[in-house]
Amino acid sequence: MNLILLGPPGAGKGTQAQRLQERRGLVQLSTGDMLRAAAAAGTAVGKRAKAIMDAGNLVPDEVIAELIGDRLDQLDAGQGFILDGVPRTTAQADAIDAMLTQKGRRLDRVIELKVDDDLLVERVTGRFTCANCGQGYHDKFKRPKDAGKCDVCGGTEFKRRSDDNEDAMRARLQVYYNQTAPLLDYYRARGKLHSVDGMADMEEVARQIEKTLKVA
Ligand code: AMP
Repeated sequence: MNLILLGPPGAGKGTQAQRLQERRGLVQLSTGDMLRAAAAAGTAVGKRAKAIMDAGNLVPDEVIAELIGDRLDQLDAGQGFILDGVPRTTAQADAIDAMLTQKGRRLDRVIELKVDDDLLVERVTGRFTCANCGQGYHDKFKRPKDAGKCDVCGGTEFKRRSDDNEDAMRARLQVYYNQTAPLLDYYRARGKLHSVDGMADMEEVARQIEKTLKVA
């Protein structure tokens, strides 16, 4: 099963991709995670990407095509994947389509997570993760059970993404509606698009996604 999770920043793509990875053995391919890793490692691509990401803009399509192409090449032929946060432009969607065709693979479903803007801003500006194990938390919706201590690994350091502030988030939303939302029609026209209610709680969203995967 090869999937794309499509939706604005904060819609829950990463959370749901991780669940699908755990439950269905699919590989999560997140270009945001790849770019943050490159930035943390201080590579040339990472340094260039960091400034673009902090401003809430999109990294050039060629960079993304290369990142995704490399990762797809590393997968076994039968290994299913979830694209999380990619494609974000029609050019990226075309490039991915061409890569998959060339590898004799196909896209099975594109799942849209629909969420209202106000909730997105609240979700994104409040989120943080354990610096040690990556467990996700939220100031309002999901605090650690013991204040200051990770529920999973007991770590006491937490971090926030540098682009999870209100200004960058408003810019990211603008970019989403201008450049990424047209992909909804792109995939609808190809008969691939399924939409789920991303405002529901995490378990319910996961249930709705599972339902779309069972549709023939
Ligand atoms: P994300 O973790 O998916 O929210 O991505 C964080 C940031 O990384 C975005 O705001 C962009 O600056 C950059 N980025 C991630 N994926 C892409 C992509 N497919 N195309 C262009 N920029 C991307």
